[in-house]
Amino acid sequence: MITDELKNKLKEDLVKALEKQKKSAPETALIVKAYDFAFKKHLEQKRKSGEPYIIHPLAVAISLIKLNCDTPTICAGLLHDVLEDTLATGDDIKKLFGDEIFALVDGVTKLGKLNFKSSEEAQANSFRKMLLAIAKDMRVVLVKLADRLNNMQTLDHLPEDKRKRIAQETLDIFAPLANRFGLNTFKIELEDLSFKYLMPEEYTKVKQIVVSKKGERESQIAIVMEKIKELLSQHKIYAEIKGRAKHFYSIYKKISDPETGEIKMDTEPQIYDLLGVRILVSDIKDCYATLGIVHEAFRPMPGRFKDYIAVPKTNLYQSLHTTVITPYGKPLEVQIRTFEMHDVAENGIAAHWNYKEQGGTNHAEEKDLEELAWLRQLISWHTDVEDAKEYVDTVKEDILSKEVYILTPLGDVITLPVDSTPIDFAYKIHSKVGDTCTGAKVNDKIVSINYKLQNGDLVEVITSKNSHPNLSWLNFVKTNQAKHKIKSWYKKQNRDRHMVMGRQELEEKFSKDIIDDLLRSNEFSDVAHRLNYGNSEDLLAGIGSGDTTVAQIISKLQGTRFVKQEDRSNDFSKIKTRKAPTQGDNAEIPELDGLLYTIAKCCMPVPGEPVIGVVSRGKGITLHRSSCHNLHQVEKDRIMHLDWKTKGDKVYPTHLNIVVVDRVGVVKDILTKVADAGVNISDFKVKERPDDNSASLRMIMNVSGQAQLNQIIVSIKNMTDVLVVERI
Ligand code: MN
Repeated sequence: MITDELKNKLKEDLVKALEKQKKSAPETALIVKAYDFAFKKHLEQKRKSGEPYIIHPLAVAISLIKLNCDTPTICAGLLHDVLEDTLATGDDIKKLFGDEIFALVDGVTKLGKLNFKSSEEAQANSFRKMLLAIAKDMRVVLVKLADRLNNMQTLDHLPEDKRKRIAQETLDIFAPLANRFGLNTFKIELEDLSFKYLMPEEYTKVKQIVVSKKGERESQIAIVMEKIKELLSQHKIYAEIKGRAKHFYSIYKKISDPETGEIKMDTEPQIYDLLGVRILVSDIKDCYATLGIVHEAFRPMPGRFKDYIAVPKTNLYQSLHTTVITPYGKPLEVQIRTFEMHDVAENGIAAHWNYKEQGGTNHAEEKDLEELAWLRQLISWHTDVEDAKEYVDTVKEDILSKEVYILTPLGDVITLPVDSTPIDFAYKIHSKVGDTCTGAKVNDKIVSINYKLQNGDLVEVITSKNSHPNLSWLNFVKTNQAKHKIKSWYKKQNRDRHMVMGRQELEEKFSKDIIDDLLRSNEFSDVAHRLNYGNSEDLLAGIGSGDTTVAQIISKLQGTRFVKQEDRSNDFSKIKTRKAPTQGDNAEIPELDGLLYTIAKCCMPVPGEPVIGVVSRGKGITLHRSSCHNLHQVEKDRIMHLDWKTKGDKVYPTHLNIVVVDRVGVVKDILTKVADAGVNISDFKVKERPDDNSASLRMIMNVSGQAQLNQIIVSIKNMTDVLVVERI
């Protein structure tokens, strides 16, 4: 039973932790109010360990206090589970604690809904980026990390399989995230706890090694530290000197085979850096002075000096690193930094933020980052413009260059190229979803299907059974997968049409009542195989597309029950080879590869000209010249921009209008010119205009493309008596 006694005892822990932070009275009161609220809401709940639930949010809040977090973050730590696990509503929190704290609690709750299911490196990476991208306020991630840390600390009470899963997730996602935030203390603890649960045997082994070497190393290091202390006090440098133990997981990584994960026993004696030395001084000047003193006393190892003060790491880490040879002939790593740098190294941006609050200024001037509230915040957390810019650039490039991270309603993360649309998303889920997509809801609002998806968007696809892809989607979809699926849907449509047409052609030759029998027969499928078709349906589609003929099939069916020998006398000439109205070889328009299209009669475009495809239901695409006046009436979403290339020896009809001085022989001269160019004329009309002694000629000729057409136009224009040559 939870008593007032317990409530007050825990409250004392909280208040005690707060003492060091020097919070104002109203701030402390707000934090206590959050504690009281959480206590009441979680009253009935127990943790798996049997302890009252409030222990958990309290622990989260206390580790946030240790990070020097601000009051709203600490409150959010206390309240982080009330929305998910209790009857408390968002409105309750808003009313009692304000919008800022509500937003933090809500953010943590949302992160909890993410489905981190894969330990695969690429997937883990996208989850980490996803987390950063959707947690617009970095403080949300801090709370989440503190939450995870406490969950890891109390993992013992969960069943084995759950323990392993959570530990793996922590190692893959949360520990690297803590590192990126510069939260070294979190990172180390998360890694060591994960290590312990994931690889208990290896963990024990490493622990044994550390313990067995510890005494020997410590006594050596103590002597080195004593020497440094003496020298520093001679130079009047105030310093704190500490021996530093490496954490178990980092030692394990050093001494294990990266492939198999097995501990390599022969590397054991080499673990010189089980311990190191860390020197904390007051300012940067003292850092370099100390470095000089250390290098004078001990021989530095060449190539091991790193100046992270001049060039900080991207997570804001600053320090001098050097390795020296001790009097015992063994290398020893020495880190030198200021107290402030140390705080940042241990507590990351949370600490940094604190320094900023104590009188730093906000130098953020990155206009181009305005869309990213959280990145802006990051800059404002930092007091040095140069470093902030570098950090932001790194993060920005890393996260935002090529991909966006999109959430499904189930909390899965889908990675898509930048500028992807709901259609790309739908096809990524399933081709059926893409084919029947009619729209989408993004973050609960309806968007247009060419909406450009943003990081962290929660996308719900709206489908309709009777809907189908629109070719104009090809204009804006980003993924090849979507492009391919849209085209293949249309190809399949063509195939269905071809099958119907093939059947109609067969019906002209065979009576209706035997046709089903024929199509199902072994004889027919035998013919299909002999003509190199996969099956009977393919053969039927082949007839419809004009790829093969009914006559050919009849000749192959000779002697079967469907075509008797005497039928041979049938007039095959009557069975016309009918070319399907579709174009067989469409590769000259890569966008339309294999799709049905026709050429508009109004403007008769030829390959090489700028053309526009107009999508029509059922009829596929009609090609118009991009200058065609009919295009003005077409809705935008039916228009496709296409690139039409000349290919092979195909010719295309197009028309020319020519105005000439009406004299004998001029028409013949023009015809000769065109014939000389090797071009066929399929139609030719002359209209005399006696009043100005001119004539207008309209002709339709077949050209291979724009180049040939231009040649003809130029050569006609250069003729005497020709006044105008124009396309219609
Ligand atoms: Mn929690």
